[in-house]
Amino acid sequence: MKWKTPEDWAKLVKGIGCPMCLESDMDENPHSFKVAELKRSIVRLNKNQHMPGWTTLILKRHATELFELKPEERAEFWDEVSRVAEALHDIYHPAKINYCIWGNIMPHLHCHLFPRFFEDDPGQPINQNEKEAFLPLDEYRTLMADIKGRLNMGR
Ligand SMILES: [Zn+2]
Repeated sequence: MKWKTPEDWAKLVKGIGCPMCLESDMDENPHSFKVAELKRSIVRLNKNQHMPGWTTLILKRHATELFELKPEERAEFWDEVSRVAEALHDIYHPAKINYCIWGNIMPHLHCHLFPRFFEDDPGQPINQNEKEAFLPLDEYRTLMADIKGRLNMGR
């Protein structure tokens, strides 16, 4: 895999033609399903569940780096990341939740959440594109309802 050209990258960083701006709010897009809309982010369940529980929060507005967010916005975004992580923790009882912000392919701020299990190699870097595993539609629906229900509890 290669980086985009500097010219194409500069456009995407500005949000010109950004697929995440266009597709994040869709109930279903090529990569994921919308689970919930929070104040700062859209919570999406990845169709590829080769790592069980793989969920992504996408900032609702276009920004690339965390330092572009005002402190209040950044704090609220991280709070939402934490709430979703807690929901996944309660569902999967993993050894650890991993929080991944790369953005090397798509420079629109988003945070991947990956529950990690004792069967995993804890020293192995995550390769999100290592393989693909898709679930029956009703399993996505059940999982999304479970995550959403836990997000609505408490606060
Ligand atoms: Zn964008």
